[in-house]
Amino acid sequence: MFDVNRIRKDFPILEEEIYGKPLVYLDNGATTQRPLQVVERMTEYYLRYNSNVHRGVHYLSNKCTDANEQARETVREFINAVSTDEIIFTRGTTESINLVAHSFGEAFIREGDEIIVTEMEHHANIVPWQMLCERKKAVLKVVPFNGKGELNMEEFGKLLNERVKLVGVAYVSNVLGTVNPVKEIIDAAHAFGAYVLVDGAQAIQHIPVDMQALDCDFFAFSGHKVYGPTGVGVLYGKRGLLEQMPPWQGGGEMIKEVRFEKTTYNDLPFKFEAGTPDFIGVIGLGEALEYVKGIGLQDIASYEHDLMNYAMEQIRTVPNIILFGEAAEKSSVISFGIGGIHHFDLGTLLDKMGIAIRTGQLCAEPVMQHYGVTGMARASIAMYNTREEIDVFCEGLRKIEKIFKL
Ligand code: PLP
Repeated sequence: MFDVNRIRKDFPILEEEIYGKPLVYLDNGATTQRPLQVVERMTEYYLRYNSNVHRGVHYLSNKCTDANEQARETVREFINAVSTDEIIFTRGTTESINLVAHSFGEAFIREGDEIIVTEMEHHANIVPWQMLCERKKAVLKVVPFNGKGELNMEEFGKLLNERVKLVGVAYVSNVLGTVNPVKEIIDAAHAFGAYVLVDGAQAIQHIPVDMQALDCDFFAFSGHKVYGPTGVGVLYGKRGLLEQMPPWQGGGEMIKEVRFEKTTYNDLPFKFEAGTPDFIGVIGLGEALEYVKGIGLQDIASYEHDLMNYAMEQIRTVPNIILFGEAAEKSSVISFGIGGIHHFDLGTLLDKMGIAIRTGQLCAEPVMQHYGVTGMARASIAMYNTREEIDVFCEGLRKIEKIFKL
C-alpha cells in the first residue's frame, strides 16, 4: 500500500527547516529530491568500487561496468524497450534531444524538410530543432494550444504532410501540466512517414511509460527529475533507427578500430557514448528507478492524481488567483499568478514561509508569450508531497494576497 509517511522518511531533506519553518518543497518539476537509497548506493560506489567502466580487466573496473550495464537493463525494463541496445546514457533530456537533432538530423533531414514541435515545449525541445533547421535549411512548424492548455489536434492534422520528417512533443508540459495525447500524435505522424521524439522529462516520474506500446521513435528523460542524480539521463531510440544514425561525438569507447585512414564505430549503444560516462550517476539512476518500481508507478500516479485534484480545488479558493493550464488531462504542475502581484514577489514571500516554488519564464518563453505575461509562479508536486503541504501553500498564498491588497 502507498504510504506517504514511510516514503518521506527516505528523503531526509524533507525534515529540513527553512527560516525556522518546515520545508514545503513544491519545485519538483525543476528537480526532485533523492532518497537515501540512491545517495547510499552512489556513495558506496565512490568509496569502495570507483574505477573506470568498459576499460579495465581488474576487479573494480568490472564491478563498475557490471553495475553500469545492470542500470541499463533496469532502464530498459522500466520503459519496456525491446533491447538494452536502445538505451543510451546521456547528461539528461537536453543532451538526449541535442544528440537526436545532430545525428538524426545529419542522416535524415534535407533542405525543405519540415519538423513539427508544439507551442508548449520546453526550450530544450525547441532550440535544438531551430539550430538543425538553420543548418539544413529545413522548416520548423508549431502546433498551437487552446485556452485550456490543450494542443489543437485539428491544426496538428493540418500540419502533417510528406515533407514532415520529425515531430517533437512533450508528454507532459512543464508549464501547463497538460498530458498530451502522445499515442494519437505518434500514430498520426507515422501515417505520414514522420518520426516522433517524445520529451518525457515531466512524465517519467508520474506516468508509467511503455516504449513498445507507445511506439515512439525516441524518448528522452533526465535522472534528476525521477529521484535520481543530476548529470545523467537517457535517450531511448528504436534500434533500427539508431543503427542508421551516425555517431554524434567522437572519442574513446565509441569506436571499433581507429586507423588514420579510416575509423570504424562501435555497436549500439556504445556508438553514442563517447568518453568516460558518469557511470556512478548511471548506477544512481538505476537505483532511483528500482526505488520507484518498488513503490509502484501506478500507485504513485493515483496518489499524485488525487493530490493534484485536491491542490487544484484548494488553489481555486485563493482570491484573485489566475491559473494557467486547466486541461482535462493534467499532471503534477500548477502554474499560476495572483492579480496585481509580480511572480517574483510571490516566490520570494513564499520562500520566507519555507515554501519552495519556481518563478519566471519556466524555460518556455513561447508559453509566456501565448498568455502575454513576463513570467509565472509554478508549484509542482511529487510522490512525497501531502495534503497538509498543499494547505500550508494555499494559506501562504492567501496571506500574500491580503498583504498586497492592504
Ligand atoms: N523538457 C522538459 C519538459 C522539462 O521540464 C525539462 C526540465 O525542466 C527539460 C526538457 C530539460 O531537462 P534537463 O535540464 O534535465 O536536460
